[in-house]
Order: sequence, then C-alpha cells, then structure tokens
Amino acid sequence: MKTDIQIAQEADLKPIEEIAEKLDLQRDDWEPYGRTKAKISDHLIEKLKHKKDGKIILVTSINPTPAGEGKSTVTVGLGQALNKIGKHTVIALREPSLGPVMGLKGGAAGGGYSQVLPMEDINLHFTGDIHAITTANNALAAMIDNHIHRGNALNIDPRKIEWKRVMDMNDRALREIVVGLGGPLQGIPREDGFNITVSSEIMAILCLATSLKDLKARLAKIVIGYTYDDEPVTVKDLEVEGALTLLLKEAFKPNLVQTIENTPAIIHGGPFANIAHGCNSIMATKTAAKLGDYVVTEAGFGADLGAEKFLNIKTRAGSFEPDAVVIVATIRALKMHGGLKKNQLTVEDLDALANGMENLEKHIETIEKFGLPYVIAINKFPTDTDREIEYVEKWCEERQIDVALADVWAKGGDGGILLAEKIVQKIDTDNKNFTYLYDLNMSLEEKIKTIAQQVYGAADIQLSAKAKKQLKAFTSRGWDQLPICMAKTQYSLSDNPNLLGRPKDFTITIRELSPSIGAGFIVVLTGEMLTMPGLPKKPAALNMDVTDDGKAVGLF
Ligand code: ADP
Repeated sequence: MKTDIQIAQEADLKPIEEIAEKLDLQRDDWEPYGRTKAKISDHLIEKLKHKKDGKIILVTSINPTPAGEGKSTVTVGLGQALNKIGKHTVIALREPSLGPVMGLKGGAAGGGYSQVLPMEDINLHFTGDIHAITTANNALAAMIDNHIHRGNALNIDPRKIEWKRVMDMNDRALREIVVGLGGPLQGIPREDGFNITVSSEIMAILCLATSLKDLKARLAKIVIGYTYDDEPVTVKDLEVEGALTLLLKEAFKPNLVQTIENTPAIIHGGPFANIAHGCNSIMATKTAAKLGDYVVTEAGFGADLGAEKFLNIKTRAGSFEPDAVVIVATIRALKMHGGLKKNQLTVEDLDALANGMENLEKHIETIEKFGLPYVIAINKFPTDTDREIEYVEKWCEERQIDVALADVWAKGGDGGILLAEKIVQKIDTDNKNFTYLYDLNMSLEEKIKTIAQQVYGAADIQLSAKAKKQLKAFTSRGWDQLPICMAKTQYSLSDNPNLLGRPKDFTITIRELSPSIGAGFIVVLTGEMLTMPGLPKKPAALNMDVTDDGKAVGLF
C-alpha cells in the first residue's frame, strides 16, 4: 500500500493560477506564493459582499481515539466528491502545527487520495503564517519585559504576567523558565515559560478577526497580566497593537492550495481545540463561502469540543450560520468506545461496536440541540468488515438518521459521492433551525453548566476555590458577557480521559479560568491542560528525512 506522502508526490498538481482562474479570482484578488500556493486578498469578502454565500458544511466527529477518525480526510474527500457531482465546492481547513507533526502525528493534511497539496509545505513552514504569529507573540513578550526594565510606568507585577513566549514545537524543557538573569542590564528576573504557538491568544485572534481593523482592535484588548493592585494590563496600555498588526498583515490573508483532485482549498490558521476554539480562520471560511456554492470545513477533536466552539464562538464572531453537519465515525473508534484495546481492532466484534454506538448517539443529540441537519459518515478503513458496516447503517436507519459509507481515503472523491448526495439533499430539504446553546447574557457559571450538561451529559459542575474567586473578579470586570471556551480532554465526554463511550453521572471539575479578551472568550480549564506539549518516546521526526534531490520523506 502506498503511503500518504507517496500518493501526494505522484499527484498532478496544477499551477495555482489555474485554481485561481477556476474561482474567477481577478489579478488583484490574489498573489502567488511559489508555483502551487497563493495568498488571497483580505479585501475579497468586502468586494464580493453582494454575492450570495455558499452553503457551509461543518465536519465533526465522535470523541477521538488512538485508532484515528479521519476528519480532515473526510473533509477533503467530501469536497472532492461534491465537485464530482457538479457542485462548485471550496474546502476550508486548519494549518497543521509543527509540534504535533514532529511529535506524534507526522502530518495533518488529510490522507490517502483525499489530501491537500503540497502536503510537504503545508506540514512544514507553508507560507510562514505560524512563524509570523510566533514573532508577534514574542514581540509582545519583549515589549513587556522592556517596559518593566525601563521603569515600569504601568506598575506591572512581574509575578502576575500571564503572557508567555511561544514557539511552534513540542519542547517540555521550556515549560517553566526564568528570564532576565545576568545582572541589571539583562532586565528584571522573573518566572516565565513557553507555550506552543498554536495555543497563543494571537492565533485565536487571527482566526476570529473579520478584518484588519478588527484584528487590531482585538489585539489591543489582550490582557497580558495584572498590576500590583490587581488591575488588568492590556496591549493597548503598552501601545503596541499597531506593531503587532503590522507583523501579522500578510499572515492575515487566507492561503489558497488544491487537493489531489485539484479542488480549491483554503488553509488558514490552526488554534488548538482544547485551550482555544480549534477552527480555521473566519477569513478562510467566509472567503470560501464567497467563492464556492458549497464550503466544507472542519472543527478539531470531537463534536463536544470543536463543533461546540465552532457553533457557539466562531459563528457568533463571524455572524454566519452553517447549513449542515457531517459527523464522522469509524468502526475502529466505535469499537474502542465499546471497550476494545487498540491492538484488538482488526478482529470483527459486533458486541464492542454495539456498546460503542452510545458515543456517537451523544454527539448526534448535541448537533440536534443546535437545530442543524446532519449526516453520519462512516470513514471506511481496510479492516472494517461488511457485517460491522451493516450494523452501523442499520442502527442509523432504525432511528431515521441519514448515513453514508465514505471510502474517500482509498478512492478520493469517487468514494464520497453517496455522502455528497445525501448532504446536498439534507441542505435542500431539511429546514434548519440553528440556535446557540446559550445566551451571552447568562452568567459565566450558567454558561459553563449548560455546556457541561447539554454537550457532555454531566450531572453537574464543581468549581475549585480559585475558579469561584475568578468568576467573581471576571464578572466585576464585565467579562461575563463573553462566550466560553472549554479546555477539556478530547478523549472523553467527561473530564477523565479514561472514561470512553458515554459516561454517566459524572461531575466536571472546573479548575481555573483564563481571560482571552482579545479572542473574545473565557477559557475554562478542567483538569491539567498542557499548553506546551512534550515529544513522545519515539517522535515522528525519527522517520523524517530529505533525499539528496530535495524530496521530503517520512511525513504522513
Ligand atoms: P483527524 O482529522 O481526525 O485528525 P486525519 O484525517 O488527519 O484525522 O487522519 C489521521 C490519519 O489517519 C492520517 O494519517 C490518514 O491517512 C489516516 N486515515 C484517515 N482515514 C483513513 C482511512 N479510511 N483508512 C486508512 N487510514 C486513514
């Protein structure tokens, strides 16, 4: 069997001009970044404001397991399939972070015959957007330390600086550091640390801003820490929102590439789906909606994290509504939710499958609560048996739920025709009744409880003493009107990663809150959440190489 990178390197990539032409882009709407990548103007949405938006299809999934779900693969495959049935479709995806690529994942640009290309560039430095975000983030960190060194007119308490430095790598050794050592000329010594770039608030801001003006306004609102009197200190106080926006002006433009079947794809932004909201940029989604009759986009992890935040945070910030949802499930992952271990998945097991269906059932209920039409996609793996696939199809049919087997990994767009037809039919015939899960006027505690009970199926929430104190302080500062960004394990509906399937009668423990005022949400931390991941024992990097003629090896 060919690897993802072998399939990608054999593909017939069109010059990016041809993709831009296909989208009717005018010469000043885009600029090439090499032969197969381009930046699209951030003014295009405004220029096309009178053009009707395409239908937006959100791809989400059951809770991820080590067995792999293949959301990106299905997103790309469905986009290709829609084009095959004559629906002019543009895909919108996140840009992968180098940390997970070098660590566990080895790549994140879809798989098999449903990939975005050039996958080597997309997985490595791409058009430099993540590097620009790293630079903007660290420019702010340098300004903070310089401000304190130069007399600290803002009265910033060095022990209460929340703004960390970032880099786009998994590097546990940098989680906790001390800066400013070496005497009076090197600044004021203080505890600091590094996060991974994709968890930077600037990444979330870039993804939620709707114009350069909005980007600057959001950057100005970032709270970097507190004064000795516990007053928040913002980027506006430091007067650097202009410089940060300048550093980001090119990164703010969405990137155009293509899939293996030359379907246009816009890849832009990639915030974490636990500590942040886990969706590609609003600019990418809205640009795609202006250029295509259909947009297929994804949100990270399962529907309890990515989709919930897409629907409660991203759609609010971008003032748009999705038209339908695809919930991806795999037989392998369902069997893990039903009690099997990773090494037992290649054997047919209808009992484990039947047990695991309750995880899918919960996510279906969640999407129904948002009032959106949906189709289940079974992402077909080579090890699935006919009886297992029939079981899931029958389970759905008995409940009048639309389901389609998607064989897009092995067959590309051809393997997703049924899914494409079903989703188009859903959009054409089902009356959507989209509603947010909570009202912004509710208290922060009520909003958190609504998500915990309605989306996770928790009995209740329990607040730590610290969280209770923060709730009071945040409310008194007027931050209680913001939506919630839950930081929870992706593996379980609960806050315990070991509870697979559909846990019941559990309580979600709220450890701490963190204000992302620029991004426009309050991060709510359940359990320990790593904002700087570490590398595994055998990092994916060990398999990577480059041949003497410059060909990448070992990405997948
Ligand atoms: P997600 O978006 O859910 O993280 P991806 O689409 O990135 O998942 O896929 C993760 C990995 O699983 C990729 O290496 C991809 O090639 C592989 N994969 C996805 N779907 C299939 C499938 N149907 N058969 C075999 N491998 C698959």
